[in-house]
Amino acid sequence: MAKHAGIARFTFNWGLATWRTLYCEGLKPNSLVLKKFFNNHVKPVYPWMKEPGICQKVTQYAFEHLGRAFGNFFSGRTSYPKFKKKGQHDSFTIDASGRPIPVGGSRLKLPTLGWVSTYEGLPHVTTKKFTISQEAGNWYISFTYEIEPKVTPKSLDFVGVDLGVKQLATLSSGLVIANPQALRKARQKLARLQRQLQRKLHGSQRDQRQKLRLAAAHQRVKNIRLDATHKATTYICKNHAVVAIEDLNVSGMMANHKLAGAVADANFSEFRRQIEYKAQRYGSCVVLVSRWYPSTQLCSNCGQQQPMSLNARVYECSACGFVADRDFNAAVNLAQYARVAKPSLDTEG
Ligand SMILES: [Zn+2]
Repeated sequence: MAKHAGIARFTFNWGLATWRTLYCEGLKPNSLVLKKFFNNHVKPVYPWMKEPGICQKVTQYAFEHLGRAFGNFFSGRTSYPKFKKKGQHDSFTIDASGRPIPVGGSRLKLPTLGWVSTYEGLPHVTTKKFTISQEAGNWYISFTYEIEPKVTPKSLDFVGVDLGVKQLATLSSGLVIANPQALRKARQKLARLQRQLQRKLHGSQRDQRQKLRLAAAHQRVKNIRLDATHKATTYICKNHAVVAIEDLNVSGMMANHKLAGAVADANFSEFRRQIEYKAQRYGSCVVLVSRWYPSTQLCSNCGQQQPMSLNARVYECSACGFVADRDFNAAVNLAQYARVAKPSLDTEG
């Protein structure tokens, strides 16, 4: 698997470097042309890529990923593609030339690679391709399969979700979902592991082991954060027919250094991504509220708009005297925005 990930990395990096060179020479490269050239002229030079037991699909998908990376860059979603580094997000994708592959249980047969055992049991389904990745010394498999969306009974028609730094989310129903603040709690441990790593001889066995320990500690932070986000988004989409959520400018907030650490911890964009796909799965719909809608400035009781400083935690309306928690007030405004945007559901009750 490490060998396959290495080939994927080499191919991606070759493609990226060649793309850059061609672009500097005034040409317009694309991943298909690069792939053809690579297969005909580069692959034959490196016999280790064609060793028996190596799935040749790996290079094909590496070019697909390169094309997607540039596509994301051209559409302004991400920054310019970066070179892959060994040991950081090692991954590769393989398939069985379009044939469906059965999975299920704790053993599965990968194309070319053969039988592997998994730690967790897999659902009994069929899929067309696998992506295998390595993180903190463990290997993970991911694949897609089709499911029927399950419409769950909804306890509430409209809900506004305000994502925060202090709290993970505040709902207009009054529920506050706490932020696990995994990074803040683990910061001391991470700093200690980092210091210990600096004392190790570079490239030694102990250095390698310490790197794994540090990676595992980082992964734990990430997992705790993801777990909290998954639980919150599942609850929201299962129990509410219309979910209103702010279309936050996450990259803009990250540029503001004061907020950056806390925002990264709260994981806004992942939250929204999960809300969107889980809404489909559980039969609810999502209303994205424009980031220019003044949800924190409006009074959710009388509709008056007044300026709110960034650190004011409580909303006090100067017109009607309404007092509420800042995030709760914003969540109620988001729900009201959705009620106007989706009036049909309201009458159905
Ligand atoms: Zn008011």
